[in-house]
Amino acid sequence: MPGSRAPPRTASHLVNPIVVVGASAAGTSAVEELVSLGHQGHIVLLGAEPHRPYSRPALSKRFLSGEVLAVSLAELPAGVEFRPGTTASAVDVGRRTVTVRDTEGRVESLDYAGLVVATGCHPRRILQPAFGALTVRTIDDATALGEALRPGIHVIVVGAGFLGLELATAAVRHGATVIVIDREPPLRRVLGPEISALISRRLAAAGAAFILEPAGISTDQDPTAGLRLPSGRCLHADVLIEAVGDHPATTWLRGCGIPFAYRRKCPVRCLGTHL
Ligand SMILES: Cc1cc2nc3c(=O)[nH]c(=O)nc-3n(C[C@H](O)[C@H](O)[C@H](O)COP(=O)(O)OP(=O)(O)OC[C@H]3O[C@@H](n4cnc5c(N)ncnc54)[C@H](O)[C@@H]3O)c2cc1C
Repeated sequence: MPGSRAPPRTASHLVNPIVVVGASAAGTSAVEELVSLGHQGHIVLLGAEPHRPYSRPALSKRFLSGEVLAVSLAELPAGVEFRPGTTASAVDVGRRTVTVRDTEGRVESLDYAGLVVATGCHPRRILQPAFGALTVRTIDDATALGEALRPGIHVIVVGAGFLGLELATAAVRHGATVIVIDREPPLRRVLGPEISALISRRLAAAGAAFILEPAGISTDQDPTAGLRLPSGRCLHADVLIEAVGDHPATTWLRGCGIPFAYRRKCPVRCLGTHL
């Protein structure tokens, strides 16, 4: 990063671990790459979730459709210290420390020789928590949704992106009556009008209804009255699902001095200066 300087390297650089924050695809890939490149030092992998790393894409597919009971979990290279249920809450780039908190609320400061930020995304939420809408980002989310889906129930999916459509399909397969709502026809912006029309026909053939609401769902509404659409309709659901995108899980880095640039720019060099 032009103008940015790496903190001075000291003897601690030789003994402190490389700390990888985020134990999913990017974090485990970073660990595997470090090991395959011959890194001899200690590696600590921090994961906010209480589970070993697992494949997220399978959650909305084979896991929810019941084809697999558990999502295969990645094996970590020998010697890697994996700390599940450990959330990084702050980083001090100058001192090369990362503050972590475990599920018991214990706070600890870890010295690092190198830091890999691989904290991915959190689901974006547009509805108030009182709606009790479900989303699927983690294996616990997928388990909760799988347990909620029953034949005959009414399911509303807000968001007709890849995830929303996969979750709608899973709900249909569980015998639910499904409505999908979006401000655009399914995946039209991503895949174009022809494929979008094909997806709409497939959705209808599968028994799911699609409601186009170009103005989008209002974020400010009374949950007790059901889900109010801009067109004036009010819908009620046994299970409400939000699948409206995600946002970077980087609030814990706020103010630490690492420059971030989203959309087509990745702070790769910035990370490089801290390794
Ligand atoms: C249900 C579902 C289905 C998907 N299907 C597909 C698909 O078919 N094809 C495809 O290409 N992509 C798919 N994706 C997207 C794909 O899973 C993501 O692109 C991928 O998971 C990104 O990996 P990541 O490691 O960058 O981040 P993430 O998977 O978001 O992992 C980040 C990890 O960091 C942890 N974390 C966050 N903050 C902290 C913190 N402060 N301290 C410690 N740990 C923290 C989180 O708990 C999480 O485990 C799907 C995603 C979902 C949710």
